[in-house]
Amino acid sequence: MNMPVMNAPAAPPATDPLDSLFDAMFKPMNALGVYARTGAYESVVEALAAFISARRDEGTEVFRFPPVMSRAHLERHGYLKSFPNLLGCVSCLEGSETEIRGYADRHLAGGDWTEGLETADLVLTPAACYPVYPIAAARGPVPEGGYRFDVACDCFRREPSRHLDRLQSFRMREYVRIGTPEQIVAFRESWIKTATAMADELGLTYTVETASDPFFGRLGQIMAFSQLEQALKFELLIPLRGAAAGTACMSFNYHREHFGTTWGLHLADGEPAHTGCVAFGMDRLAVAMFATHGETIAEWPASIRAALKL
Ligand code: ATP
Ligand code: ZN
Ligand code: MG
Repeated sequence: MNMPVMNAPAAPPATDPLDSLFDAMFKPMNALGVYARTGAYESVVEALAAFISARRDEGTEVFRFPPVMSRAHLERHGYLKSFPNLLGCVSCLEGSETEIRGYADRHLAGGDWTEGLETADLVLTPAACYPVYPIAAARGPVPEGGYRFDVACDCFRREPSRHLDRLQSFRMREYVRIGTPEQIVAFRESWIKTATAMADELGLTYTVETASDPFFGRLGQIMAFSQLEQALKFELLIPLRGAAAGTACMSFNYHREHFGTTWGLHLADGEPAHTGCVAFGMDRLAVAMFATHGETIAEWPASIRAALKL
C-alpha cells in the first residue's frame, strides 16, 4: 500500500550567534551579504574611521576610491590567477537606442533582458589598495623615504553568506607602504603594535596569527602554503562565536616585490619596490563592537564610548 508521503518538516534555519544583532545593525536588501545599515551601526563605522585616522603616520597621502576600478588594471594585478571566484564584473546594455530598447522590452514581456549585457571595462573593486599602485608607478622612481598612503573603498567579493561578518559589499580602509624591504617590514611591525593597542582600547579580545589568502583552486593551496611559510600575512582575529575560530578584522600584508614588478614601481637603484598594507575591515570591526559590547551603544562601557567619541 502506498502511504501518503509527508513532507519532511522544513529544517530550522541555521542560527548563528550574531543573528540576534541583525536588526540593530542592518535591514535586508534581498541579497545575502548586502544590507542597509542602521544609523547606530553607521555611527560606529564613522567613529572607527576617525579612530583609525587619528593614528595615521605623518607624511601619509589620502585617497578615497570609487567602488569600481579598471578591469585591465585588475587583470594586470593577477587577480584572475588568485581569486577569480570572488570577482564581480560590470556589464551594461550597449548599442543603439533600438537595440537597448529591444532588450528592455524583452524584460517587460517577461523575457530575459540580461542576454543583451556586454562586459564593460570596469570591475567591482575587491580590495582598497589595488588602485594605488598604478598611481604611484606613474610618478617614476619611488623617492628615498618611500610612500605612505591612506586608502578606502567600498569593496565587493562574491562570497554570499548568512553570516553577518561575511558580506558581499563591505568597507575596507588601508594604510599602504611602498619602499625598500626594510621599510615595509618596519611598517608592518609598527602597525601590528598600533593595531593591537587600538583593539585593547576598544575593549576587543583578539589574537594575531599568521594567515594565508583563500587562493582559488588546487594551485591556490600551494600559493597559500608558501604565503604561510614566509609569514607574509598576519591577521587580527576577534572571537565572535565563543570558542569558534575568530573573525579576521584586520590584516597585515607583505606583498614583497609583487606589485613593484607588476607596475614597474622601482626604487632609485632600479630594484623593484616592495609593498605592504594594513587593512581594516570596517564592517567586521563594527560588527565586532556590537557583538562584544551589546546592541545598545548607550550601554557600552564609558571608556570605550569616550575612545570613539560616541
Ligand atoms: P577572510 O579570510 O575572512 O575571508 P581575507 O583574508 O579574505 O579574510 P583580506 O583580503 O585580508 O581578508 O581583506 C582585508 C580585510 O577586509 C579582512 O581582514 C576583513 O576584515 C575584511 N573582509 C574581507 N572579506 C570580507 C567580507 N566578505 N565581509 C566583510 N569584511 C571582509
Ligand atoms: Zn592591501
Ligand atoms: Mg576572504
